[in-house]
Amino acid sequence: MKYEAVIGLEVHAELLTDSKIFCGCSTKFGSEPNTQVCPVCLGLPGTLPVLNKKVVEYAVRAGLALNCTIANFSKMDRKNYFYPDLPKAYQISQYDLPLCSNGYIEIEVEGGTKRIGIKRIHIEEDAGKLLHEGTDGSLVDYNRAGVPLIEIVSEPDISTPEEAYQYLVKLKSILEYTEVSDCKMQEGSLRVDTNVSVRPVGTTDLGTKIELKNLNSFKAVQKALEYEIKRQIKVLEEGGTIVQETRRWNEAKGITEPMRTKEEAHDYRYFPEPDLVPIIVTEEWKEEIRKTLPEMPDAKRERFITQYGLPEYDAKVITSSKKMADFFEKCASNYHSPKIVSNWLMGEFARLLNDTGREIDEVPITPDMLIELLKLVDDNVISGSIAKTVFEEMFFTGKNPQIIVEEKGLRQIADEGELRRIVRKVIEENPKSVEDYKKGKEKALGFLVGQVMKETKGKANPQLTNQLLREELSK
Ligand code: ADP
Ligand code: ZN
Ligand code: MG
Repeated sequence: MKYEAVIGLEVHAELLTDSKIFCGCSTKFGSEPNTQVCPVCLGLPGTLPVLNKKVVEYAVRAGLALNCTIANFSKMDRKNYFYPDLPKAYQISQYDLPLCSNGYIEIEVEGGTKRIGIKRIHIEEDAGKLLHEGTDGSLVDYNRAGVPLIEIVSEPDISTPEEAYQYLVKLKSILEYTEVSDCKMQEGSLRVDTNVSVRPVGTTDLGTKIELKNLNSFKAVQKALEYEIKRQIKVLEEGGTIVQETRRWNEAKGITEPMRTKEEAHDYRYFPEPDLVPIIVTEEWKEEIRKTLPEMPDAKRERFITQYGLPEYDAKVITSSKKMADFFEKCASNYHSPKIVSNWLMGEFARLLNDTGREIDEVPITPDMLIELLKLVDDNVISGSIAKTVFEEMFFTGKNPQIIVEEKGLRQIADEGELRRIVRKVIEENPKSVEDYKKGKEKALGFLVGQVMKETKGKANPQLTNQLLREELSK
């Protein structure tokens, strides 16, 4: 029997409001533990929550960007459970009346696009953070308690781990575009849980789902799903049954492990939060928020193709990040070749960002600086390969490309006399390659060019080097 997978994702995103959802405490990440707390977010008796209007506004903006219906009437509910990171012993969340519902995201699949439904988006407060450091038990940091979250729950419309990955990339990109969350997984601003079941191909009933946790990157989601789907199919093929449970992804071992079963699942005893009034979103307010939505990734991609003549692939990569897209536009509107800009962004720039785990706005390179570098190449002041060295220096120091070129003496050697002298030296020192070349081996020329580059530390003008080598070799 052939099986297929059914996948649904639950994503928590911290909202970028300055203050928490029910009090005025700061949401800034990375402060000293328990310095951003007050009686409200510490859950002290007698305190009352006040809903932050910006939280509703941001959640509505995310909902609109994700094609949701926005409820004009919704409410907050209490989700009760006891755990030390939750000072009130309940989390204020939304249960039966979420703020947003029935949206979708379009992802690219082979042969077109596929719509993944979004069941609901609700708002809730984040819990504190337990720190299991040292030997004297655990510590708790309540700075995160009360930071606003949206939870985005997909329909079980995702069929493969690859689609799950695409969905997450697209979702992150949309949330970043709308500027409701910074989506930094390493800071916990974006967290993913995934649900997966399998069923025989051709059937429509859903199988028993397994929830996967401890997924620290989109790649981890993909790998965990690949493993888990195989595991479930194997269980069924061996005549077993899947029991509903939560499993943890063990990144080091590359396997999923049992975490808790259904019997251990909490009974949250949800009930309406009596300390808060219902949330009313009027049609006017909703339309006002809609007007603040920026151009979305898909629309921007199409525009980059038509306006800048970018290949589809480049346009997709560059518009997947709004910051990257903005950087590109600032360069492209002041430079003759948008494609060269895109090559740099997708090549050297992306590589260094990846290696250092930084965002484009966290490095000291400005669009003007990149253009200046490209012009140095255009004007034959430096070669394309030296430009990469200069770029790396710019990336780490924020120095101007001109200054780097002068300081490091990277100016291209385009002086014919000087270069001819080096060419002759190389020819003299490599009789074997010269012989090969004369016998018709074109490859030998490449080797000799390489030697000239080595001799000049990459500073020889490539065209002139080629020309002079051919001249000297034909003598
Ligand atoms: P729960 O009440 O257990 O949290 P939900 O209905 O809220 O379940 O669904 C949680 C997530 O799991 C959603 O993203 C949904 O699409 C997904 N899901 C639900 N049932 C299945 C299933 N049988 N297989 C895979 N995913 C599922
Ligand atoms: Zn507070
Ligand atoms: Mg749920």
